[in-house]
Amino acid sequence: MKVAFFSSQPYMRQPFAEHNRGYDFDITWFEVRLEAQTASLCQGFDAVCVFVNDKLDADVIATLASAGVRFIALRCTGYNNVDLDAARTAGIKVVRVPAYSPEAVAEHTVGLMLTLNRHIHKAYQRTRDANFSLNGLVGFNMHGKTAGIIGTGKIGLATLRILQGLGMKLLVHDPVENPEALALGARYVSLAQLFREARVISLHCPLLQDNYHLLCQQSFSQMQDGVMIINTSRGGLLNAVDAIEAINSGKIGALGLDVYEEEENLFFADKSCEIIHDDTFHLLSTYPNVILTGHQAFLTLEALTAIARVTLDNLQQLSRNQPCNNQIN
Ligand code: NAD
Repeated sequence: MKVAFFSSQPYMRQPFAEHNRGYDFDITWFEVRLEAQTASLCQGFDAVCVFVNDKLDADVIATLASAGVRFIALRCTGYNNVDLDAARTAGIKVVRVPAYSPEAVAEHTVGLMLTLNRHIHKAYQRTRDANFSLNGLVGFNMHGKTAGIIGTGKIGLATLRILQGLGMKLLVHDPVENPEALALGARYVSLAQLFREARVISLHCPLLQDNYHLLCQQSFSQMQDGVMIINTSRGGLLNAVDAIEAINSGKIGALGLDVYEEEENLFFADKSCEIIHDDTFHLLSTYPNVILTGHQAFLTLEALTAIARVTLDNLQQLSRNQPCNNQIN
C-alpha cells in the first residue's frame, strides 16, 4: 500500500519509520500540509496520513478520490479538519487514533496551569538576568481551589486525576457523565455554574459545530475576576479577540493556550525570521500572563510511539479489508 504522509516532521517520521519495519508500507514523506494547493501530490497513492492542521475539505476530498486515494489515516484524535460526509460520499474510509496518551496532554495542561500560577516563565527570565526580585510573582495555592473541566473523556479524566492529587475541588461539564470522573469526586454541573465557581477552567472537549467559540465574551462575563483559562483542546473553542478584551479588563487573570484558531498558518514551522501577519496572535504573545505553546501537548515519546503503532495498525486493517474499530465514517 502506498501512503502519502503529509505535514511530516523529523520527530514524527522517526517513530513511523521505525514501526513501519513491521508493516512495510511504501511511505512517501511530504513536509507540506495537505490542502487544496497540495492535494494533487496524492496521485497514485492508496492512503494519506495526516495531522491536525491538514485541511481535508470537500474539494480536497474530491481530488483525493479522483487520484485513487481510498483511505485517510488521521494520526491524531480530533477530526474537525476532515469533511466526514464528503469522505463517506466519495467512498473514502477515515480512521483516527482515539487515544495515544491522554496523560501527555493532561500533564502539559497542568504544566501550563502551574507555570502561569507561579510565574515560572517570568522567574526563569529574571534569574538569568540576576534579577531576584519577587515583585509580581505572587501565586495562589491550587489546593482547595475549584477547577472547572469541560469535557470528561480520556484527557479530561487524566487531568482530573492530577488536579485531585493537588487537592482541588472538581467541577465538570459534559453531556455524557463519566463514572470514573464521579469516582474521583468530580461533580457534574451546568456550564453556567462551572463558569461562576471555577478558579481555573480547562477545555477538554472536541471542537464541534455547536461549541464553536464556547469561550467568548458572553461566557467570560459569567466567570470570576482573574480566572485562569487553559485550552489544550482546539483553537476554535475560544474566541481569541474576546479573550484579549477579557485580559485587558482583568476578567481573565491567566491564559494558557496550546492551540489557536488560526494555528494552521503558524504552528509546526520555524517562523522566527518572518513577519507574522496575525495581530491577534502578536498581541497575545506580548502579555506576561499568557503562555502560548505550539500544539505540543501530545509531544512525548510514549505518545509518538503509540500514534505510529495505532496508525499503522489502522492502515493494515483497512488494507486487508478488515473492520477497524478506529474508523469514524
Ligand atoms: P474524548 O472523546 O475521550 O473526550 C471528549 C469528551 O468531550 C467526551 O466525554 C464528550 O462527551 C465531551 N464533549 C463533547 N462535546 C462537549 C461539549 N460541548 N461540552 C462538554 N463536553 C463535551 O477525547 P479526548 O481524547 O479526551 O480529547 C479531547 C480533545 O483534546 C480532542 O478532541 C482534541 O481536540 C484535543 N487534543 C489535543 C491535543 C494536543 O496536543 N493539544 C492532543 C490530543 C487531543
